[in-house]
Amino acid sequence: MKLEGKSVFSGIAIGRCKIFGKQESLVKRSKVEDTAGEIKRFSQAKEQAKEQLSVLHEKALKEVGEANAMIFEVHQMMLDDLDYVESITNMIESQNINAEFAVASTGDNFAEMFSAMDDDYMRERAADVKDISNRVVHILQGKGMGGDLGQEPVILLADDLAPSETVQLDKSKVLSFVTRYGSTNSHTAILARTMNIPALIGVDFPQDAEGKMAIVDGKTGIFILEPSAEELETYKKLKEQEQERARLLQELKGQDNVTKDGKTIQLYANIGGVGDVATVLANDAGGIGLFRSEFLYLESEDYPTEEQQFKAYRTVVENMAGKKVIIRTLDIGADKQVGYFNLDKEENPAMGYRAIRICLDRKEIFKTQLRAIYRASYYGKISVMFPMIISVDEVRQAKEMCETVKCELDAEGIPYAEVELGVMIETPAAAMISDLLAKEVDFFSVGTNDLTQYTLAIDRQNPKLDSIYDAHHPAILRMLQMIIDNGHKGGCWVGICGELGADLTLTETFIQMGIDELSVSPSMILPVREQIRNSSSK
Ligand code: PEP
Ligand code: MG
Repeated sequence: MKLEGKSVFSGIAIGRCKIFGKQESLVKRSKVEDTAGEIKRFSQAKEQAKEQLSVLHEKALKEVGEANAMIFEVHQMMLDDLDYVESITNMIESQNINAEFAVASTGDNFAEMFSAMDDDYMRERAADVKDISNRVVHILQGKGMGGDLGQEPVILLADDLAPSETVQLDKSKVLSFVTRYGSTNSHTAILARTMNIPALIGVDFPQDAEGKMAIVDGKTGIFILEPSAEELETYKKLKEQEQERARLLQELKGQDNVTKDGKTIQLYANIGGVGDVATVLANDAGGIGLFRSEFLYLESEDYPTEEQQFKAYRTVVENMAGKKVIIRTLDIGADKQVGYFNLDKEENPAMGYRAIRICLDRKEIFKTQLRAIYRASYYGKISVMFPMIISVDEVRQAKEMCETVKCELDAEGIPYAEVELGVMIETPAAAMISDLLAKEVDFFSVGTNDLTQYTLAIDRQNPKLDSIYDAHHPAILRMLQMIIDNGHKGGCWVGICGELGADLTLTETFIQMGIDELSVSPSMILPVREQIRNSSSK
């Protein structure tokens, strides 16, 4: 039986299925006389749950890094939430009921309330409040939290997995995660990526899959239950090839990105959010070359505050521990629409009111973001770059805003560090005036996705034009050479952060053109490193 799902991490797994049984215990309602005693039982169970969560936090810190481990701190805080605790104690007192029932009911009520909210973040908390309530109920009932997988490593099938369930699993026993629900950004998906195992979501597996052989193809999103001997043979071969390749790549960890003739290239990673940092580190990137900061706005129901942004940037730079983090300022508009910005419908959004154009028009939004970035700069090594630049004047206005922000922070006694400034070269205009732009900034990062779209006049979103959207077009490669030369003449270093940067067939060409940095998706770091080491700079 072949089922289709959505891949959240690539790779192949072959093994027996195990359906992860949720330990949803039946909670009976019973009358109690001693309500004070019952409240005490609840308090003790709550404290024990917090201790368990603190152990899990420590475990997760070691296994999946600080950003992913944070959820267990959040769970500890949720257990102490006044409304949550009050609801439970009130129920016990006013209805003379047992603690288990009060905790389970409160968990259900809160989860329902969160699920009904508009905010995506709050909706996700529904699973968390159920998870913590389940934990307390289990303690009250004297049961463990489950997760025993047996002896053989398995393909784990589940409706969805709560973070606490995922982290408690014995990782050496899990070949792959396959879930019915969950999203690409769910914790299960993030953990699968950091654990480097194939994972699929949205697979409607049958309930009788338990114990049956299966294949997970994380590349195509296919799940094959009870594969034929032929399918098994094909996938075994593919898996062997994959393992050999992975082994070779692992040997490249800790190695320099240096060409055969001794030229070092900076190799950084592109990220979309705080959750991606663990994979960046796992793949041994030298820094973050493109932090698409708009994710903070896309995930929000309203403009993210300075404090919210500051926390996100600070978490990223602290996790990167002194390695460079290049934050691209807000690139909203075109394909990235956000309701609360109230942007007009446009005939040509890709050429419309977007990115730096919005920031220079609605300066309060820009200033809030820059204040958050400068404040976070104190905790690591931050660079800032501006998207969709077409003129020197825009760069000057952006730099002026940076100066204003620094003056404000000085006046408020808030510390910040030196921040390198750069522009994305992703419009033909910026490429053509790159000699002038180089005098204004410290670095260029070439956004080949948009540069190709605007140079070839081909909408990057239009699947009909895929076959002629050719980033290898001589127009692009000539522009790239011009940008690199102009950048160097003006004292700038030059990198590529568009998808073309990870094109292994061009790595040597880029190096010979004089590129200084390549920023690619985390999983491409080691393949590009391999290619750099096989290249010659002349
Ligand atoms: C680009 O245009 O190449 C780029 C890196 O930016 P984005 O893909 O986010 O537009
Ligand atoms: Mg772009």
